[in-house]
Amino acid sequence: MTEVLPDVHLIRLPLTGSPLKWINGYLLKADDGWVLVDCGWDLPDVLEALQAQIAELGVQLGDIRTLVITHYHTDHYGLAGTLIGLTRARMLMHRLDWLFVEDELADFDAAIERLDQWLRQNGTPPELLEDEQRRGVEMFRRYKLQAPDEQIEDGHRFRVGRHELQAVWTPGHTAGHICLYDAERRVLLSGDHVLDPISPNVSLNRPNQGNPLGDYLQSLRKVGELDVDLVLPAHGEPFRGLSRRVRELLEHHDEREAEVLDSLTRAARTAADVASVLPWTRRRRTLADLAANQQRMAITETISHLEELRSRGMLRRYEHDGVLHYERVGSRQ
Ligand SMILES: [Zn+2]
Ligand SMILES: [Zn+2]
Repeated sequence: MTEVLPDVHLIRLPLTGSPLKWINGYLLKADDGWVLVDCGWDLPDVLEALQAQIAELGVQLGDIRTLVITHYHTDHYGLAGTLIGLTRARMLMHRLDWLFVEDELADFDAAIERLDQWLRQNGTPPELLEDEQRRGVEMFRRYKLQAPDEQIEDGHRFRVGRHELQAVWTPGHTAGHICLYDAERRVLLSGDHVLDPISPNVSLNRPNQGNPLGDYLQSLRKVGELDVDLVLPAHGEPFRGLSRRVRELLEHHDEREAEVLDSLTRAARTAADVASVLPWTRRRRTLADLAANQQRMAITETISHLEELRSRGMLRRYEHDGVLHYERVGSRQ
């Protein structure tokens, strides 16, 4: 637990077994108790870590009156149901993320089956799909569905003690991702939207999801225009220089785009083919070097690149034997 600003405390919640190691929850002092932003997996070690760290401030679970969820991912929202059972907290979440949870995750087996089908349709080899079922059960353990008390929209404002926070809708990492902006103190709680040095994952996980990478790039420019001194991200350390980081992420995207286009120069390929020739992680590892779940994420991330390029008319997509192929416009002989 660290006080990163007066009355704003960073709480490290363990993500045991994940390369991310932990998620940063932020505990903010309000007039009638405390506000917690993001809450970790629904696992006992997370709840214990939360209780131990807030106890250092003399705070108990029951003192948390508001829970704000930046997005529905299980490391941010998983514990919400358990926490609300133990407190009187009101939960806030963007309308679109709740819609997604309700529509897509209520039947978890079906959601996993749909993802499997989508990966298959994008050329994913069967060996990467075999442990899907196990992964599904594993993930469900870290999740308890909980409806928000309030579904919020872009620009939603709420008071936290002497300060005011404003929700900034930043679709891309998820459709209903929000950052929280304290304009007076020039602070942005950035969730998973802007991280440093990690580049946030932007995936296309099912058909008809539109163009999440296009949304993400637009959302990056949107927060890049805010007057911000300190960024409080959900992973990694707090940092300064939001506009510098936004610029880096946009440049990183341009490099990635060039690599994707280059991989398609000679022949049409599936998303899985493209992913297998791109370098991954900051260490530029090959796809085969990654764990199975990371390989799947690399493929869905590649789909988001391909679809972003397609939305700008640079690629064409066609189906062959039930598998989607992409090719550069003008490259077909
Ligand atoms: Zn996330
Ligand atoms: Zn996260």
